[in-house]
Amino acid sequence: MKKVAILGSTGSIGTQALDVIRGRRADFEITALTCGTNIELITEQIKEFNPKIVAVGSAEDAGRLQSIFPELDIYYGEEGQITAAESEGDILLNSLMGMRGLVPTYRAIEMGKDIALANKETLVAGGQVVMDAVSRNNVKMLPVDSEHSAIFQCLEGNKGKKISKILLTASGGPFRGYSMEELEKVTLSQALKHPKWTMGRKITIDSATMMNKGLEVIEAKWLFDVPLDRIQILVHPQSIVHSAVEFEDTSVIAQLGLPDMRIPISVALGYPDRIPYCGKGLDFFREGATLTFEEPNPEVFRCIKLAYQASEAGGSYPVVLNGANEVLVEKFLNEEISFIDIQRTLEEMLEKHNPTYNLGLEDIINIDQEIRKEIREKI
Ligand code: MN
Repeated sequence: MKKVAILGSTGSIGTQALDVIRGRRADFEITALTCGTNIELITEQIKEFNPKIVAVGSAEDAGRLQSIFPELDIYYGEEGQITAAESEGDILLNSLMGMRGLVPTYRAIEMGKDIALANKETLVAGGQVVMDAVSRNNVKMLPVDSEHSAIFQCLEGNKGKKISKILLTASGGPFRGYSMEELEKVTLSQALKHPKWTMGRKITIDSATMMNKGLEVIEAKWLFDVPLDRIQILVHPQSIVHSAVEFEDTSVIAQLGLPDMRIPISVALGYPDRIPYCGKGLDFFREGATLTFEEPNPEVFRCIKLAYQASEAGGSYPVVLNGANEVLVEKFLNEEISFIDIQRTLEEMLEKHNPTYNLGLEDIINIDQEIRKEIREKI
């Protein structure tokens, strides 16, 4: 029986993880659940899964829940997420959105827990610090991001073999093939309509700008210890090949499946075993019949270029890239800036950034807060 804590249990990944676990109650025990503001849903989840620890966003909501569940330990705020992350158990599924996932991930690693990571910002901003902690504590970092789950699966049984290339697939988002002029005119509702995946709002916008792919390049670099120049983005609009690895003999191993996040979630939670799936699989005469691949255009989708550059430059650059992007996406979602402003402002911020290196966890948090403040004052 695996003891699982889920941060962000009411979000897209959290609810799908509970779908997976719902069918396998003999194999999993839920120790902790956390959310931000969706108290109605977490109330249902508590009744169904009986966690020992719960954390929510505000003190007020924690109080309300406590009156419904007097026997439960209920926490709130950032500290609440950390308490849940550190609670007794085997594996933490971190599906928080953004930079606030970093400290809970770090603390869970320090407690010796394996991590099922659906919070890529953790590795973008804190890659070195987090992966050092992973090896120091000898825990497993199991990717939940579909592309990284694919790469992870391609590498199983190939330990120590030389990778010549990671082929990271991308759907291309709703604006695939657009020119810079066309990107100038896109609206919020267009950007929120992802052609293949249903996801949270932040990652949906990141997919439209292709920053999501940029962040995933950085995530892959840390997870698989592969240099940036060996990570290549393939635009693959059908989202059936979830990524691939080319070895030095030029053999390419890929992982395929329908675009359904329950599959990578199952791989991470079930590891090293596979969990049977009750839904339908890929039909090669239908969804799998035509698979196409294109080159991305980093001159139009500048976020791709900025992510490579920030990661190459290292130090505080990726922290700035990630923190600034989070605020800019939030501003776009609030319709305070246009779509193209996201990449334009990021370019400016990175250009004038005065970098620092050899960052500890505290430094990363401080730099992140500074950049957020700077953008909020600027716009
Ligand atoms: Mn992904």
